Amino acid sequence: MKIAIAMCGKTAGRCSTMGCFRAYNNKDKYFSVYKDIDTELLAFFNCNMCFENGEEKLKKIANKLKDNKVEKLHLGVCAVKCKEDNLEEIKKVFTDLAIDVIEGTH
Ligand code: SF4
Repeated sequence: MKIAIAMCGKTAGRCSTMGCFRAYNNKDKYFSVYKDIDTELLAFFNCNMCFENGEEKLKKIANKLKDNKVEKLHLGVCAVKCKEDNLEEIKKVFTDLAIDVIEGTH
């Protein structure tokens, strides 16, 4: 199963992203549901929804994920706690393409 992770663009450059990768590599925390499933982390990207043309750019990413058969998108806690109150809009970009959105990584 192909998986992607999105983090809040406002944390880029401040977050090492190791918490997300460690949880994924160990199939721990929000990735524990994949313990018995082969997975591939295909993408790790910034949300950037509240940046200039952010929604348009996010839709392009979502389409690329869909074209490459990503089935699950995990949102990092930084994105789940979106300070711009855009969480539902962010999720909709992906769920509109039938990509499941899971709120959490570690
Ligand atoms: S919309 Fe929310 S999660 Fe996305 S970059 Fe802005 S603050 Fe971060």
